[in-house]
Amino acid sequence: MLADGQRMRAAVVAVILAGCTVGDDPIEVSVDEPFPAELAAGDVIRAGDVAVEVPAAGETVTITVDDEHGDSFELAIANAHDGIVTIVTTAPDDEPLVIAAGSPAPCQDGAFKLAGHRWTTEYRWKFQAGSTPGANSRDNVETGLVRAANAITGSRNSCGFADLVSATHQYLGRTTSAPNIKGGTTSVSCGARDSVNTVGFGALPSTYLGVACSWSDGNGVALEGDVKLSTRHAWYALGVPSGCTKRFGIQPVGAHEFGHIFGLGHVSESNHPNLTMSTATAPCTNAGLSLGLGDVRALRQLY
Ligand SMILES: [Zn+2]
Repeated sequence: MLADGQRMRAAVVAVILAGCTVGDDPIEVSVDEPFPAELAAGDVIRAGDVAVEVPAAGETVTITVDDEHGDSFELAIANAHDGIVTIVTTAPDDEPLVIAAGSPAPCQDGAFKLAGHRWTTEYRWKFQAGSTPGANSRDNVETGLVRAANAITGSRNSCGFADLVSATHQYLGRTTSAPNIKGGTTSVSCGARDSVNTVGFGALPSTYLGVACSWSDGNGVALEGDVKLSTRHAWYALGVPSGCTKRFGIQPVGAHEFGHIFGLGHVSESNHPNLTMSTATAPCTNAGLSLGLGDVRALRQLY
C-alpha cells in the first residue's frame, strides 16, 4: 500500500506521462501550409517526397537532394531558441534558365552559392561499408569516398589554384550504423541527428542519386553532416570503366555531396555545367572530382 505522499507522486507522474504521450506524437506538415504553433523538434516538415525532422531548438537542418537529371531541391528548416520553427530555404534550382552561348570552362567559371553553414572543427566521418551495392568493391568505394573528401578539403583542381582552404576532414573508418537519412523509394527525410557523421548507401526515390543532410547551430556552425547515395543507380568507384553507360562515379558524386556537407550550395546546370557544385553529375566521367574556379572560391570564402 502506498503512503499518501507516494500515491500523490504516482498520480502526478501518470498525468505527466499521459501529457507526454499525446505531445510526442509527431506532427507532419507541408512546407506550403502555415506551421502550427506547437510544431517542435521531432515533428516532420514535408515538401513532396523530401522532408526533414524539425531539429532541436537552436539548430537548423538542411536536406539537399541531387537528381540524375540535374534537378535539385533544398529544404532548410530552423528551430529558434524560442521554439519558433521557420523555413530558411525551400528551393529548386532557382536561377533563370539561360541557354549559355558556350559553357564556361571550369577554370574560368567563378560562380558559387553558399549554403549557410561551415565547419569550425575537423569533419570526422565514418562509412557504412556494409551498405555498398554488391556490384562494387567496398575497399574501392571507401578509397573513392576518401578521395572525394580530400578533393574538397584540399581544393583539388586542374587550374593551378593553390590550396588556401583550411577545412580538414578525417576518415574514422567503417561503421555498421546508417546515416540518419530516413526513407526509401517513395520519400527521403533527414532524421534526428545522432552526432555521428556517416556516409552510406540506401534506397532513394527513383531518380535521386544522392542526398546530403547538414545540421548547424544558430551561428551557421556545422554540427553534423550525413550523406546517402542511391542503391538504385549503378556506380563505379575509381577509374571510369571501359564501355561505361549510365554508371556514376563515386568520386565526382562524393565530392559534390561533401561540398554540400562543407557548406556549398548549387549553381545551375544550365549556366555552370562544368563546376562540381552544378546540379547534375554526368555518368561515366570523373570530371567533377576536380573543382572549378567557383567551387574553389566558395571554399576560400568559408575557410
Ligand atoms: Zn547537390
